[in-house]
Amino acid sequence: MTRRRTIFALSTAKGRAGVCVFRLSGPGTRAAIEALTARAAPPPRHAALRDVRLADGTSIDRGLVLWFPAPASFTGEDVAEIHLHGGPAVIIAMTRRLAELEDLRPADAGEFTRRAFANGKLDLTEAEGLADLIGAETEQQRRLALRQLAGELKEQYEHWRTDLIRALAHLEAAIDFVDEDLPPGLAAEVRTRATTLASAIEHHLADQRRGEIVRDGFTVVILGAPNVGKSSLLNALARRDVAIVSAIPGTTRDAIEVDLDLGGYAVTLIDTAGLRETTDEIESEGIRRARAKAEHADLRLGVVDAKSVDDSRVSPELSEGDAILLNKSDLAPNQTVPASASHHAMRISAKTGEGIDALLEWLEAQVIARVGATESMPMTRARHREALEDALHALDRVPASLTDSAPSLDLAAEDLRIASRALGRITGRIDVEDLLDVIFREFCIGK
Ligand code: GDP
Repeated sequence: MTRRRTIFALSTAKGRAGVCVFRLSGPGTRAAIEALTARAAPPPRHAALRDVRLADGTSIDRGLVLWFPAPASFTGEDVAEIHLHGGPAVIIAMTRRLAELEDLRPADAGEFTRRAFANGKLDLTEAEGLADLIGAETEQQRRLALRQLAGELKEQYEHWRTDLIRALAHLEAAIDFVDEDLPPGLAAEVRTRATTLASAIEHHLADQRRGEIVRDGFTVVILGAPNVGKSSLLNALARRDVAIVSAIPGTTRDAIEVDLDLGGYAVTLIDTAGLRETTDEIESEGIRRARAKAEHADLRLGVVDAKSVDDSRVSPELSEGDAILLNKSDLAPNQTVPASASHHAMRISAKTGEGIDALLEWLEAQVIARVGATESMPMTRARHREALEDALHALDRVPASLTDSAPSLDLAAEDLRIASRALGRITGRIDVEDLLDVIFREFCIGK
């Protein structure tokens, strides 16, 4: 096997920072510290103030050096952190100096975490939790990411996989003794285990995509005929001018998105092209996209002009629980909202701000009702869902192969194997080489 090279990276917030941190990981780390400081590495896990030097012995900067010998480190390899002042010239000089040291090379994005995974320090769900924590923009995203990083998903999936492997071991033992009678009750026992596990997975899958929505954002689409005030509403909700507001119908030909933080949840507001009959090809495409966005959104706001109260364009696009908003209420003070049993109705004015705070409060309540925190940790990625569905399909076949009268142990064993492999793919226990590039690409350099 070729010797692993030592990697280094600058790991710091974007832009100017008071401090920058260089991280190193790999077998050449100790030698690199000695070369940089002309002294022995400091005691493990203690910060030491050292001059960090160029090859000719002159100082680049004075900073803190931390040394984490393998295996008690983030990557499981020898690791060092060097904290220097965060000026651009310090960063350039230090980067050049590290690159000229023997055996050192710049790290790829996510390479430190990938090494931690390879050394068994993290499973894939924890690595994903770390990527999410670094990328978290809202309070709820941060909390969810931290739970995943702490291993909540890993524990759940590993627990299920251990159960499966136990059931499989029973079956395999029985298959090996094929000439003898089957132990009494074996088929029934494995059948029970498979159905219990299948219902636990089914329950976990029926989470209304809660974790995925918290992570990716709750999407709200604004729909309506041209000129009813959709773009003005987007601006009023975002409290800044993001969409082009104009009195010419058909201005918003493609969707415009704005990210909001509502009660700690990430919400993506999408303004869409006005719904109307048109022969304009580009506008038709915009309307087709508006409908597609509306269909996939978590919630729809149907906007109607208070002067005409014509909801014929929006009502067909709305689902139960969506809202009808009577906009321009300032122009029609006495107009009431058309009654609807399945839609929440409100009077608003994007121009004067009437009803906007109430609408934001209502939206926040909807988000919390749909994806609010619960005790069990939800899955956060489509890949978890796909693997769990594969496991569930395999488990669902087990009872049919294990009838009391004519059990087919081989078929049942194969399905248990398929299910356990599917769970192992989530945590990265097996079959994941092809997945690794995709997962670790999400990271920034230096993690
Ligand atoms: P969209 O085509 O549905 O996106 O509509 P716009 O947001 O571009 O608005 C169309 C016109 O209606 C613009 O002239 C806005 O200033 C005006 N408008 C939007 N909301 C209101 C409102 O609440 N009150 C009044 N009086 N005018 C509004």
